[in-house]
Amino acid sequence: MAETTAPAPLERAQAEVADLLSELIRIDSTNTGDTTTSKGERQAAEWVAGKLDEVGIDSVIHESEKGRASLVARIPGEDRDRPGLLVHGHLDVVPADKREWSVDPFSGEQRDGYVWGRGAVDMKDMDCMTLALVRDWARTGVKPPRDVVLAFVADEEAGGKYGAHYLVDHHADLFENVSEAISEVGGFSLTVRDDLRLYLIQTAEKGLAWMRLTAQARPGHGSFVHDDNAVTKLAAAVARIGSTRLPTVLTPPMKQFIEEVSDAYGIEIDVDHPDEALSRLGSISRMIGAALRNTVNPTMLDAGYKTNVIPGSASATIDGRFLYGQEEAFEAQIDELLGEGVTREYITHDQAVETTFDGPLVEQMVAALKAEDDGARPVPFTMSGGTDAKSFETLGMRCFGFSPLRLPADLDFAGLFHGIDERVPVESLQFGVRVLDRFLRAS
Ligand SMILES: [Zn+2]
Repeated sequence: MAETTAPAPLERAQAEVADLLSELIRIDSTNTGDTTTSKGERQAAEWVAGKLDEVGIDSVIHESEKGRASLVARIPGEDRDRPGLLVHGHLDVVPADKREWSVDPFSGEQRDGYVWGRGAVDMKDMDCMTLALVRDWARTGVKPPRDVVLAFVADEEAGGKYGAHYLVDHHADLFENVSEAISEVGGFSLTVRDDLRLYLIQTAEKGLAWMRLTAQARPGHGSFVHDDNAVTKLAAAVARIGSTRLPTVLTPPMKQFIEEVSDAYGIEIDVDHPDEALSRLGSISRMIGAALRNTVNPTMLDAGYKTNVIPGSASATIDGRFLYGQEEAFEAQIDELLGEGVTREYITHDQAVETTFDGPLVEQMVAALKAEDDGARPVPFTMSGGTDAKSFETLGMRCFGFSPLRLPADLDFAGLFHGIDERVPVESLQFGVRVLDRFLRAS
């Protein structure tokens, strides 16, 4: 491990991080999944460029399509021969319906010690923690030990085609000699008791298998006796898929996670049936439960055009997610549930990624968290959703979800992602800046 240097006072970074976040939230960068109706990514990237330029950090904005902008900057380290570290964050957000919120979701309002708005936890918070930190470094002359590459990207919320995937496919040179990456989703705390908090560090995420199912059968008149019906066949397959819970599979990060939870809470956890014990983790258990198995949920149905006509085909879409190393098993599980006469095809497919919870970089994350919270106990976990790590991993980087936040014990953090009244405590942002400072200066 690198020698620990005394942390900078970070006064300006801690003072400005919440205001930066408010400003960035006010740039509505809603990603609808459709370029013609998405907006704000260019403006957000230009805003970041301006904030970097103010302190003398050069950056370049790359557009995959008009308005789909991602920004990359490289901060030179002390030792330029060492492989660099990527800190990436997305600038887009999912839509928010103002009528459902207590505040305007794009006001960036600060109230009751929180910054409110769409993107407050996913993930303009990390964007601004990073920004506040590197601005502070530039002002005080701090140089990281090795190159730190910053990427603020478009389109994560729709799979990254116009953001991270685009950069990796067309500008891989920007990430030359970068060996590791940090971003969402991880580094946040889960309170066990006053003096013990688990910090969940993402070392793996599930793969994406979105599929269309199609049943084909004999069309006919709705008034006849007709036993070969595409709608019936499809409905039966959808019902089987939707009501089956796929078996528990413990991948290495989740095995370690369960051992740590068992130890922290002083409870026995049956590794074959861990769900019940894990329910005590509160709302986060929905996310954790999904990381213990492959999952599949039917999400859309499409069949027929008239009440008295039996259609020749019917289709449905399913959202499947498979664990690292489980893709073939997952496909076999789906095929068994489909039954006869129903076929499947991929609409969207992306890999699962996983790395190990060890090595100097992990030690530095652990040390930085413990230095700022003496009740911290970092543990690895698998994220049930997907992030841009899927793209950057293809360049050979080890990817971690590490956006450090010490959270209040009663905050439903998992529920804030894409949720109503998304918000983040100002103190948590300041904590994150301090942890990132220690971590990046040691790495
Ligand atoms: Zn996100």
